[in-house]
Amino acid sequence: MQLRYQFRLYPTPGQQRSLARAFGCARTVFNDALRARQEAHGAGLSYIKDTDLQKQVITAAKRTAERSWLTEVSSVVLIQALSDLNTAYRNFFASVSGERKGRKVAPPRFRSRKDRRQAIRFTRNGFRLRPNGRLKLAKVGDVRVRWSRDLPSEPSSVTVIKDAAGRYFASFVVEITDGPLPEAAAEVGIDLGLTHFAVTSDGRKITSPKFLRRAERRLRKAQQALSRKQKGSKNRRKAVARVARLHARVADARRDHHHKLSTRLIRDNQAVYVEDLAVNGLARTRLAKSVHDAGWSQFVTMLEYKAARYGRTFARVDRWFPSSKLCRACGTVARAMPLDVREWACPCGAVHDRDINAANNILAAGRADRLNACGGTVSPPA
Ligand SMILES: [Zn+2]
Repeated sequence: MQLRYQFRLYPTPGQQRSLARAFGCARTVFNDALRARQEAHGAGLSYIKDTDLQKQVITAAKRTAERSWLTEVSSVVLIQALSDLNTAYRNFFASVSGERKGRKVAPPRFRSRKDRRQAIRFTRNGFRLRPNGRLKLAKVGDVRVRWSRDLPSEPSSVTVIKDAAGRYFASFVVEITDGPLPEAAAEVGIDLGLTHFAVTSDGRKITSPKFLRRAERRLRKAQQALSRKQKGSKNRRKAVARVARLHARVADARRDHHHKLSTRLIRDNQAVYVEDLAVNGLARTRLAKSVHDAGWSQFVTMLEYKAARYGRTFARVDRWFPSSKLCRACGTVARAMPLDVREWACPCGAVHDRDINAANNILAAGRADRLNACGGTVSPPA
């Protein structure tokens, strides 16, 4: 399977200028190609051949006065920008036809120099790893990298990213071939909630770490301060930069936390079941912001690819039952359950922690789905 490994880059001021030029050229090619496709569509032609499009927006464009500067950057970067557009269209069409599941994908939109994230991609013939640890990028030079871990194999491509905080990163795509972990006895259901980040069926409640909550608080304050600054003022510019920096730090800390937690859950369990977020009603309520902040989908994505990597079972439980209201002892469904009820007693005598009960119901449903898929039968709770 393919994985991404990301490292911080430290380009010199000269290299930063070359990268800025490459970001700009890739953006121009992407936008020219998008415009060409839209115009073709408007003229009743549904399709332009990729080779024709490449000729038009790269090869021929380089010979014109207003696009001659495209020759200043690596053509690998320009061709990859076209391939990005193709991927964006493919995802959009697959989403429209229903072939692609999940959230609806919007049609490709024009890129802007004001986008929070600028990126270009180099394939095999556009970059090289130097013996001295530098990353050679075509028409940019040898860029300094902070290697925070080893690459497991030769990367097939690298995306160079500049984020809103002005930091540079190299994101390598590498092929991973390591096999499954030794079998584990345990299986686990996970309830993603608001009071805790996650609660597991074995009774563990996981909150986000303190430093992350502190950083999030600082970010909120910085955002409030920003909203009070005069438009166009120097202080506003400073406040924007501060928010971007804090934002990047929070995102990093959160990703790190998700990595540690997902690795542990996959290592300790043979099967991991999570309720399907798409059917989780919370995502559509006024709590949506905190749902988004909790970064569940990032975490669930990590669980999924790590499970595939280490030979574990991962499944989203399509939750047709009210997991927090269903008594896992007797199968009775409690009538109402406002969010502030953390513990409840069933008429059968069982006393439940709301979230641990929900996690156990998710585990049971996940197992049942799996047995059904294997041709087994599931009997309803007695
Ligand atoms: Zn009961």
